[in-house]
Amino acid sequence: MDRLVIDCRVCAQEMQSHIHALERLASPGKTNHSPYIPIRCVPREKITKQDKLLLAFDALALLTVSGQAPLFGKIIHGSEQATAKVDLAGWMEMAKTVVGKIVAQQASQTPPQLVLNKHCAECEFKARCRQIAIEKDELSLLSRMTEEERKQQHNKGIFSVTQLSYTFRARRKPKRLASKPDKYSHALRALALREGKIHIAGRPGLNMHRNPVYLNQTTQHWHTGSVCKCAVPAYSSRQVYESHVD
Ligand code: SF4
Repeated sequence: MDRLVIDCRVCAQEMQSHIHALERLASPGKTNHSPYIPIRCVPREKITKQDKLLLAFDALALLTVSGQAPLFGKIIHGSEQATAKVDLAGWMEMAKTVVGKIVAQQASQTPPQLVLNKHCAECEFKARCRQIAIEKDELSLLSRMTEEERKQQHNKGIFSVTQLSYTFRARRKPKRLASKPDKYSHALRALALREGKIHIAGRPGLNMHRNPVYLNQTTQHWHTGSVCKCAVPAYSSRQVYESHVD
């Protein structure tokens, strides 16, 4: 236990990292590597790319302070507190690139491009960013659109949900594909938002494999207590969308 430093801050130039723990290796090996390795604890069972990048950032802060890079780091994760050893060389290069971009952005006079993303739900600026995105009619309001798809639209000169909505063309499906579900269409969703209408992709139907459930139109009571799989509207109105954009 005396080889551990718990919950420490490493500050170097414009960089600061809150490191969960540092472990001093019993035999550090090559002298040009740091005798300390960073440790991160994450509650999730599965380690993500972001976890490894954060660990690499810890290592980068250590390198900046001591001039010695840790060879590897550890992530303790999940309910079993499993330990994963992470080779840091490649990840530190990625972390350096990210830090470089942040430094360049800080030096720039223009604000970064606003792109809503999956982290917004936890961010303190989410209400502000969402409002700006709505005012700009930003493509990232379409939460299912990937970064790659957004870039493809930008390359075509499409930058807003409204512009995208005009690209939707209803096409007749070939008979051989009739049984296949319709492909998800960002353009159709954009059209639904622009028109404030509900569009249903494909032919709506009820899946009646299990005991059916009936709605008595007169009494408005449901009969039998089984699962009823209804056709859910694939695209909701703008108001509904905006209220669920998180
Ligand atoms: S709310 Fe704004 S600042 Fe926060 S993650 Fe989303 S886009 Fe970035």
